[in-house]
Amino acid sequence: MKNDLIKNENRKNVLIGGAWPYANSSLHLGHLAALISGDFLKRYHELLGDNVLYVSGTDCHGTPITERAKKENVEPKDIAEKYHNEFKEIFNKMNFSYDLYTKTDDDYHKKHVEDMFLKMYKNKYIYSKMNLQPYCEHCGKFEADRELEIICPNCGLVSKGDQCDCGYVPTEEDLVGATCRTCGNKTVQKENTHLYIALSKFQNQIEKYVEKNQKFWRIASVNETEKYLKEGLKDRAVTRDLSWGVDIPIEGFEDKKMYVWIDAVLGYVTATQKICEEKGINWEDFWKDNNNSNIKMYMCHGKDNITFHTIILPVLLMAMEENYHLPDVMVASQYLNINSEKISKSKGNGITIGQMVEKYNVDSLRYYMIAYGPENKDVDFTIENYINIHNSDIVNKFGNFVNRTLKFKGLTEIPVGVMDTQVLKKINETYKIVSEYIENLEFKKACGKIIDLIEIGNKYYDERKPWIQKKENLDEFNNTIYTCTNVIANLSNLLEPIMPQTSSKLRGYLKIEKPSWEPIEVKEKIFLDNIEVLFERINK
Ligand SMILES: [Zn+2]
Ligand SMILES: [Zn+2]
Repeated sequence: MKNDLIKNENRKNVLIGGAWPYANSSLHLGHLAALISGDFLKRYHELLGDNVLYVSGTDCHGTPITERAKKENVEPKDIAEKYHNEFKEIFNKMNFSYDLYTKTDDDYHKKHVEDMFLKMYKNKYIYSKMNLQPYCEHCGKFEADRELEIICPNCGLVSKGDQCDCGYVPTEEDLVGATCRTCGNKTVQKENTHLYIALSKFQNQIEKYVEKNQKFWRIASVNETEKYLKEGLKDRAVTRDLSWGVDIPIEGFEDKKMYVWIDAVLGYVTATQKICEEKGINWEDFWKDNNNSNIKMYMCHGKDNITFHTIILPVLLMAMEENYHLPDVMVASQYLNINSEKISKSKGNGITIGQMVEKYNVDSLRYYMIAYGPENKDVDFTIENYINIHNSDIVNKFGNFVNRTLKFKGLTEIPVGVMDTQVLKKINETYKIVSEYIENLEFKKACGKIIDLIEIGNKYYDERKPWIQKKENLDEFNNTIYTCTNVIANLSNLLEPIMPQTSSKLRGYLKIEKPSWEPIEVKEKIFLDNIEVLFERINK
């Protein structure tokens, strides 16, 4: 069965890739800050009438998970499964509207990633090379960087081989003769053959790609990518000596697994393939460039993942030589710090999303992350600041406007009146300007513009004094309430990408069938019963 929508020429096929969280600890507010933009964009493009697919999943492979499993005396699969289920539950609670949220430990994913890997190998962009590598004779295995221990040449303290607490990243030479963290013995250098991806062959193509698309990227993505391009792209190993991960479909590499980042970024493709198969639509409409393709592809992630999306993923797609569409828009967010400290697992200072949704309103939390999140610079999160924003923007401005209109004392139905032309003009403008901001990745400004409309509504209400009009001029009173109700109706559209639950509630009150991205006017007779207070003030 083919989906006819895909063939509609005016619609874009929008693919939104949300970063794949790593299955070794609970999701904290930093994750929410980085991932919320994906759901925001998904909902926005749906309102525009585009064909949207929003995919992501849990990143299940890699050494931190195997280490953790060993420590807890369970299988890596158990750790991955535990967090995958936890993540799914949290995303549900946050109303993330993924079309597919899958995981890298999924047979469909693994099979299709192996196929893609093989294509790159056949195209000779993946090649084998022998190297000397730390080997523990006692444990009988090659060691990953983080399984090693050295004295940090930068700070002089004991450090893991992948990165020191001081920030220093050890070089290959630093790791010669490093200690095995498992048994405490010194490692030796032993010959090992790995597969490499020829990133260096793509230097020119990536430069052209960045030049063409950077106007759609946040500045952090451009800067970080150019740093690597300036140094010159270097070939990189794509295999690891691990027992947990995606198999290497090439003879002689049966004892190795795929480097976790290769398999995770290709998950955007496999997840699209899987969901399209389920929906009976052609996945290539979202991934392949041909004459009539009209694709827009967003990648949403934190700034620690930039080059995996701006360099590695595009290289892998090009290396398949199958006319893949490269991601257009990079939505990288900065860091969310907690009480002026960087969130760190060892400090245990992260606040989990789970802890927040237990105590606070989901829509208010979503609003906070989009309107006050780390869009272009790191931001400092404190509970106090969050409560202030909730009480001022959400309760005092938005909640109050809805309350004083729809719960006006003695009012049982929305009167039919005439819409104020100035307010109507502002509503029309708001759609246009908010759209411009969103497409320019300025989500804070988009939220600010919506709050402006709420303020215009509140000011109009104050000036019209409906509590006096009701006694002195019923027609004018009707016009006031009718106009304010239409502001609320349009807010239910404009706020749908930010506060989906509240928007849906408002649509229920005002008999609006479905949200859309165009000015609307309530027409039906609307009775005002069962109107709830939307938001409660939080006491500090
Ligand atoms: Zn150090
Ligand atoms: Zn050892």
